[in-house]
Amino acid sequence: MFTRLCLGVILAWLAVSPAHAENHFVRNQNEYAHALAQIEAGDVIILANGVWRDFEMVITGEGRADAPITIISEEPGKVFLTGQSSLRIGGNYIFVTGLIFRDGYSPRGEVISFRRNKQDLARNSRVTEVVIDGFSKPDRYESDYWVGLYGQSNRFDHNLLVGKTNKGVTLAVRLDSEESRENNHRIDHNYFGPRPVLGSNGGETLRVGTSRYSMFNSNTLVENNIFDRCDGEVEIISSKAGGNIYRGNVFLRSRGTLTLRHGDGNLVERNVFLGEGKDYTGGIRVINQHQTVRHNYMEGLRGTGFSSALTVMNGVPNSPVNRYVQVLNAHIANNTVIDSRRITLGAGADEERSAPPIESVFANNLLGGLESGTFIEVDADISGIAFSGNRITTGNVHSALSDMPRAPVAMERAENGLLYPADEALSALGAPRDLQPVALDQVGVNWYAKPSNDTPFATSGNVTAVAAQENALVAAIANAETGDVLELAHGEHVIDRTIQLGKAITIKGATQEDGQGAVLMFSRPSLFELREGGNLQLINLVIDGALAPDSVGNAVIRTTTYPIKSNFQIEMDSVQVRGLVVNKSFNVLTLGKSTLADRVLIRNSSFSDITGAVLSASAETEDFGQYNVEYLDIIDSAFNNVGGPVADVYRGGRDESTFGPFVTFTGNALSNVGLATTNGSGASLNLHGVQTTKVARNAFFKGAPLRIVHTVGTPVTSVEGNAFTQTAKPVLEELNYEGEPRVLMAGNVLDGEPVE
Ligand code: CA
Repeated sequence: MFTRLCLGVILAWLAVSPAHAENHFVRNQNEYAHALAQIEAGDVIILANGVWRDFEMVITGEGRADAPITIISEEPGKVFLTGQSSLRIGGNYIFVTGLIFRDGYSPRGEVISFRRNKQDLARNSRVTEVVIDGFSKPDRYESDYWVGLYGQSNRFDHNLLVGKTNKGVTLAVRLDSEESRENNHRIDHNYFGPRPVLGSNGGETLRVGTSRYSMFNSNTLVENNIFDRCDGEVEIISSKAGGNIYRGNVFLRSRGTLTLRHGDGNLVERNVFLGEGKDYTGGIRVINQHQTVRHNYMEGLRGTGFSSALTVMNGVPNSPVNRYVQVLNAHIANNTVIDSRRITLGAGADEERSAPPIESVFANNLLGGLESGTFIEVDADISGIAFSGNRITTGNVHSALSDMPRAPVAMERAENGLLYPADEALSALGAPRDLQPVALDQVGVNWYAKPSNDTPFATSGNVTAVAAQENALVAAIANAETGDVLELAHGEHVIDRTIQLGKAITIKGATQEDGQGAVLMFSRPSLFELREGGNLQLINLVIDGALAPDSVGNAVIRTTTYPIKSNFQIEMDSVQVRGLVVNKSFNVLTLGKSTLADRVLIRNSSFSDITGAVLSASAETEDFGQYNVEYLDIIDSAFNNVGGPVADVYRGGRDESTFGPFVTFTGNALSNVGLATTNGSGASLNLHGVQTTKVARNAFFKGAPLRIVHTVGTPVTSVEGNAFTQTAKPVLEELNYEGEPRVLMAGNVLDGEPVE
């Protein structure tokens, strides 16, 4: 395994370097600039431990293979570039290691650029053991790259990149000048850590090339990296050039796929995809010519459509470079797909994408799907694919593939953690036995922790009792640390200011007896305002709006008016909210522009006498495909006399780069909801552009109708087992799709009669 090329090693190495090699120990930016002015091949600049704020670091010079120019931290993990900082590398044989970018963001288009400017591109240079942690621009829709690779024969390895929250690829290989093509770059042993759902296009973790230069070869090697929870958008890796190799990478719980989007002649081999049953986890998507996909392993993937474990696309005849080139001569062999939901052949077939895959081979694959639904889907003519030696072990298959051999296969987990047929006679099937998935301790750096848990709540182990006294909760939150639980005593808790929340806090009422509980009253327009780092869980509480003033935009919980970088979660369980009536538009929850909730969960709760919406998630009105909530779950709750909709969710536009929003609305009772004249949607539940919707077993009584509007993509919507009483029937609309609304309606009753 790799160990850090530490200062001692460097200095020892210098002993055999040219006689003039020098060490420059620098303590500030002036000293750095002075050292840089005299730098020569073989020299080393050592950055002193500490915080280097607002440091737009530049390095260039003519190093040599036997005498590189080196920038190194005094000690690993102790040199921090913060504030408005960046690094630009030009020249030849430059070596950079040991830096941490944190607590700030790049003022430029990149955090680390392998070019100083358009004339001075890096060659034969290496960045290793560098950390970029949360170094994101404050507005999620302001774009940058964290790393831009230009030039020739550069290496980016053993780095740790986590928590990019703004738009733009995490690492981009650029081919925009001739000097950057056929580059032989190497990207290896990096830890690409959690990249949260962006809620827009531009959330790729790695992109090689662009459609404009996709006719050129990049010849980049992407090897032995780990992609952990890289959920930014539908493409984890977007390959947009030719001649690349993607080998030995591991994808853990990552939504989306490795997509061969543009460019020909790429090799994808020996990669391991482990979805662990998480929504939208996918594998490899094939487009273009002469692509080889072999010896890969996929397990526990749940993606469908373009995010299937294996997707072979239909193309556009004579496709322009930015559309879909027909698949020709794809070689897809010896892959194992197990416990996965979907493989799609001829995906995306429509009037425009009418050219099916041709002259292609699909051989010796071992294929095991879920028992429910169709495991292997065929959406086009597949006579141009030669099938041989494949075996289906489980799952239903489209009738076009009814000849494919099928029989159960006993599987055993081998020492490498992967499943193989127990019967040695089947060893020619599926992925090879000698796969060795790269391990977490082999990627990134060993002096900076990789992020672990996903739930922000109740992680600290601290539980603090809060007395029923004015502002006691304010003080308790000020003193709390993230992950704390605050337990409220019975009685009234009056709060006279808006609580600015920048931590993950659980507020829990002591168990209610005889209607006696912890009651929160507040005398400002909002009780909570979420800001960066804020997550809120409310359990077993009463929230009463009686003391709130008449103010524009009243909401019990709202987000700050500034953008929030990090996605957040809000949960309400066994919460009673009442009396938000001081004016005509008092919401329970308002999510503002440039904010995205990973999850809003409302369960076993009740809401009564509210003039506005329970959840307003409709601030992204520009129709760029952006939105405010990824998962919305409203379950087993009651809504009485609510003027606005229970939820107003809006995702407009035609972009297809996101999976969400995802709405579950089940087991609720609504009475007199959505009828206020101020409710512009005219609905009791307004879902616009939601991708996956389940509305089941609800009772809608004397209120406005349910409204579902589909925009792009292939929305999955079901409305089942609901009772609509003295309520207009659901309003279902398609904005782009020609035909009847794609909604599964079943078992619903309108005033006692079945409704379709
Ligand atoms: Ca994309």
